[in-house]
Amino acid sequence: MSRPWNFSAGPAALPEVVLQEISSEMLDWHGKGISVMEMSHRSDEFYEICNEAEYNLRELLSISEDYSVLFMQGGGIGQNAILPMNLIAGKNNSNKADFIITGYWSNLSYKEAKRYGDIHIAASNNAYSKIDNKEQKPWTWIPDERNWNLRKDASYLHICSNETIDGVEFSKIPNLSNFGLLDTTLVMDASSNFLSVSLEMNKLGAVFATAQKNAGSAGVTIVIVRKDLIGKALPICPSVFDYLNVSVNHSCYNTPPTFSIYVSGLIFKWIKKSGGIKFMEINNKVKSSLIYDYIDSTSFYENYVCKSVRSRMNIPFFLKNHSLNKIFLEKAKLEGLIQLKGHKSVGGIRASLYNAMQLEGVQALVTYMKDFERLYG
Ligand code: PMP
Repeated sequence: MSRPWNFSAGPAALPEVVLQEISSEMLDWHGKGISVMEMSHRSDEFYEICNEAEYNLRELLSISEDYSVLFMQGGGIGQNAILPMNLIAGKNNSNKADFIITGYWSNLSYKEAKRYGDIHIAASNNAYSKIDNKEQKPWTWIPDERNWNLRKDASYLHICSNETIDGVEFSKIPNLSNFGLLDTTLVMDASSNFLSVSLEMNKLGAVFATAQKNAGSAGVTIVIVRKDLIGKALPICPSVFDYLNVSVNHSCYNTPPTFSIYVSGLIFKWIKKSGGIKFMEINNKVKSSLIYDYIDSTSFYENYVCKSVRSRMNIPFFLKNHSLNKIFLEKAKLEGLIQLKGHKSVGGIRASLYNAMQLEGVQALVTYMKDFERLYG
């Protein structure tokens, strides 16, 4: 059976070798006669799976012992509430947090956080802006750090490293010490570019990522949080979501999403075997450049995102003649190029090129785009 090239934004394509491994271990994991789904989360076997996953993740991202690695439930949207409940009291019980809005997901995080404290927008891209002499539409650029209006007493600053819907990605993680804010914590929703680039953990207090894009299957959310920030959760925080509780119980305070943790563990091993994060980073740059370079070479397609912050993971684009979008998608499907439909809030086309998307798949998409242009251009 030949599998199509799957450009889904998430749940997204998984490496075929990992799917085969899961399939071969489905009925009998490592000679134990049972599947991972049927194992107690308190068993030695699951303990081994969970520990190995954490070990490999720490190695991939150079995460020191100053940080806890947590496997949680609730998804990225759950963390929009869980993270403020845990960290907003951090600086002298200020219950203040600042946000940089760069698209749909950081905006959603901001709205949710407002339920837990005094939340302030330090900068937003929800406006037109002139960058390099070009008028940029709202949601297509990242506000210049020099214009961020940060509060000294905020416990943390929230950013989303990659906006999955808008296709805007920070090219580097901001350094809060440049603002003279040594004790403000930077927190980051890295859901859609986690493990695609190296992480400068020393600049970060907490990172979260829902797994179903680049780190496994839906059900588990990975949280990396500096240990000294843990233990100050608001009294309303459910104990199952209290980072301290999750941390001291090695992600097994309640029954964790065992199968999803197992899948994430296999993905971490696959990344290590494939050449690590550095290899992914280079490969992702090559893959995304293939599409951007082609879009930039023609007037048939367009991508509105400011060039310096274009996402390497999620590429939203349009056919200049919008009435052709539908037929583009229909014909793509027949060519084995699937799940290319843009998010409903943006429309058009979106190609997601997570780690599991091979260069060959991207080449097939670009060839299809060229052929389509020849026919309809
Ligand atoms: N943050 C980002 C950047 C996302 O892309 C998503 C999911 N698309 C989420 C958060 C929400 O994740 P979940 O659906 O797992 O709650």
